[in-house]
Amino acid sequence: SPVIGVLALQGDVREHLTALAVADAVARPVRRPEELAEVDGLVLPGGESTTISKLANLFGMAGPLRERIAAGMPVYGTCAGMIMLAEKILDPRSGQETFGGIDMIVRRNAFGRQNESFEAAVEFGGVEGGPVEGVFIRAPWVESVSARVEVLAEHGGHIVAVRQGNALATSFHPELTGDHRVHGLFTDMVRAAG
Ligand code: GLN
Repeated sequence: SPVIGVLALQGDVREHLTALAVADAVARPVRRPEELAEVDGLVLPGGESTTISKLANLFGMAGPLRERIAAGMPVYGTCAGMIMLAEKILDPRSGQETFGGIDMIVRRNAFGRQNESFEAAVEFGGVEGGPVEGVFIRAPWVESVSARVEVLAEHGGHIVAVRQGNALATSFHPELTGDHRVHGLFTDMVRAAG
């Protein structure tokens, strides 16, 4: 089974570790560069992207993460994790940096103003067996993508799931439901890359 890390600086780490284990991966938390070097793929959890960004700098993880993602390590970002994979963010707090990896512009808290938190059935390209239940919590949406990015899901006319090469991102949190098909898709991506 592939070894998949969950970046454990801040956010819903435990839920991702559980979802990955159900999806038949060996899952472990990653906090240090030495731990990053030992995984075949990485999940960037939901949480607060400004905090994740600050802690990544503090822990000396920002550079190593940027490098491994640029080198093609499979990576999956949910919500704040999606923001961390964007090349550009709209409405960033001053100084907020991302790791990059997906050629997209993401708008933070995009769904938040209308409705802080909601659930919706999302048709998800590449996931078999019907729509995925999307849990959106102060969720971003993808404002625009380059031609290199594949759009996997939309909600209310906005892009909420994308893939570019080995990088996958969702606005919502599949780890908070019992349905771990998206983590299964990511585990398959990690297996295929290895
Ligand atoms: N609004 C948060 C951010 O901008 C993301 C929320 C989440 O991950 N559930 O980082």
